[in-house]
Amino acid sequence: ANFIVGLTGGIGSGKTTVANLFAEQGIVLVDADIIAREVVAKGSDGLRQIGDKFGPQMLTPEGHLNRAALREQIFHHPQDREWLNALLHPMIRTRMLQQIAAASSPYVIMVVPLLFENGLDKLVHRTLVVDISPKLQLQRTIERDKVSKEQVQNIINSQSDRQTRLDKADDVIDNQGDVTALQSQVLALHNKYLQLAERQNP
Ligand code: ATP
Repeated sequence: ANFIVGLTGGIGSGKTTVANLFAEQGIVLVDADIIAREVVAKGSDGLRQIGDKFGPQMLTPEGHLNRAALREQIFHHPQDREWLNALLHPMIRTRMLQQIAAASSPYVIMVVPLLFENGLDKLVHRTLVVDISPKLQLQRTIERDKVSKEQVQNIINSQSDRQTRLDKADDVIDNQGDVTALQSQVLALHNKYLQLAERQNP
């Protein structure tokens, strides 16, 4: 596909729910979270380099990434966080572009929770924000993950705020209503993206 829509929104806003509605229309999804896990999967080049740099304690006995150990390492050493980002971000970007190139649908939806925060909006033709109030973000995330209000609030605080995201959005989906209301917004955008994609590759 030559037309890329970047789908983003805060924690619990409904990105996955919205993405699945586009998938029902036959649109290929590229998921940044899945790719970010693949580049440090067991046996990957990314994981090998992390082990070489920080030591064998970065791997579990089964050969998976020891996330707690890596988190600890980069929490205490800011340069190590930069090293890690310099290693992984190009790998993630390359994989994303490969999946986009291989996608057979007229456009692709790239789901990226931190689209604006990580500057990945530069890779897409159009940005789509799923918008809900912080109050609903808390409610729905607590309900889904059975976590504390404080934990969710900390994540909300670490992400772009609602207005910043809305200011940067080309398109917005209001997900404060029910799933039926979501459905019709997705269909309208799907038709719009088909047209834009067509214009992009005549
Ligand atoms: P995260 O960033 O945490 O991965 P997300 O943005 O992908 O979250 P979803 O997982 O799609 O968000 O939605 C969060 C929760 O809210 C889920 O349990 C989902 O089923 C529910 N949800 C989504 N949209 C609605 C809606 N319109 N009405 C009620 N519940 C909803």
